[in-house]
Amino acid sequence: MAGGDATLNPYAIVRAQVKQACEALRLDDSVYELLKQPVRILEVAIPVTMDDGSLRTFTGYRSQHNDALGPTKGGIRFHPDVNLDEVRALSMWMTIKCSLLGLPFGGGKGGVICNPKELSEAELEQISRGFIRGVSAIVGPEKDVPAPDVYTNPQIMAWMMDEYSRMQRSNAFALITGKPVELGGSLGRGEATGRGCVVTIQAAMNKLGMKPAGARVAVQGFGNAGTVAARLLHEIGARVVAVSDSRGGVTSPAGLDIPAVIAHKARTGSVVGFPGAAPISNADLLTMECDVLVPAALENQLTAENAGQVQARIVAEAANGPTTPAAQEILFSKGVFDRPDVLANAGGVTVSYFEWVQNLYNFYWTEDEVNQRMQQMMERAFEAVHALKERHHTTMRQAAYMFAVKRVADAMRLRGWLRRAPAGRQPGRAAAN
Ligand code: GLU
Repeated sequence: MAGGDATLNPYAIVRAQVKQACEALRLDDSVYELLKQPVRILEVAIPVTMDDGSLRTFTGYRSQHNDALGPTKGGIRFHPDVNLDEVRALSMWMTIKCSLLGLPFGGGKGGVICNPKELSEAELEQISRGFIRGVSAIVGPEKDVPAPDVYTNPQIMAWMMDEYSRMQRSNAFALITGKPVELGGSLGRGEATGRGCVVTIQAAMNKLGMKPAGARVAVQGFGNAGTVAARLLHEIGARVVAVSDSRGGVTSPAGLDIPAVIAHKARTGSVVGFPGAAPISNADLLTMECDVLVPAALENQLTAENAGQVQARIVAEAANGPTTPAAQEILFSKGVFDRPDVLANAGGVTVSYFEWVQNLYNFYWTEDEVNQRMQQMMERAFEAVHALKERHHTTMRQAAYMFAVKRVADAMRLRGWLRRAPAGRQPGRAAAN
């Protein structure tokens, strides 16, 4: 695909990724037929009384892609660019992610078109409560279990859990994950996405014979995932040479003092202006000299235009969908070790699974137990994908999709969802005895 990106539409991209995996596995056509779109999508209008007394409606979506393996699972994003195709795509990625990690969940995702940075707490609370009221008929601990995503947080999960519990007239902690620890949240959930990403980076370093100490890391995006990944990498001796957020970035060849950058962002709202570091744009950060690149922001950051200039040996996708298919091909041909999103950021949903289990059992684990189990599951998934990649001489991404699609296809076959064999070829009935 030398010409460039055929599309930047994430829904078209994930459909192509799933189709490719079905073809590589030589699955019956009916598998892709069932996986090519979400089974259910709900659009809701959320009325909010704004602080100035006016009434505004916000649009929200919940997409449930496939529930062959269990209740659908996935976050809710509050962002001005949320749109139906993005939500659909993100729900498909969740099906792949949950399947890859061996979780008993299908894939779902939600989003509300809004800019939380311009909303007061009272307005945000109304959006959160209104969204969950609007989708209440299709979510629930055994149906669809939401969680945080871009610009949503434990407080928003608490409001949603509370609103749903009021409607049910009983506490429903297992409705949603990523809650505050005081309200049934799991220890370790807040850090899980970044921590899981670091587990996969260390596993990749092992394969390449690299050491974390002194490795130069650039992190694009300083939200939940990026901040934690940067901090943990800093703690194990890596040199975090650049970080950025939506306003811009900072770089220091000697390595940034990450706890100090976190404190600076808490004080000023951005990493920009961190004393002693030089400014760097989000675009330049992606192609700067480094060993590990962690895109931890939004979709379509590495494209046909800039992938050729990427200098990192390992790209670990803490964000969902940051690399376009054309960029992926370029990175593969350059020998870059890809840690695809469905693997690299799956620590979050893995600990969400633990949270759901803890809520259902009303029995809570220590932070060490959570972290250890998550690490084990991430390492197991990494090794399975790596083995498949070697066997098929393909990318980690393609191998991850093959592994995940196979598990969903097996579940659908066993449930009797796939095309039946033509009448003449049906196996004879076993004698009932
Ligand atoms: N939003 C996160 C993701 O994209 C977490 C989803 C969850 O915990 O259910 O994986």
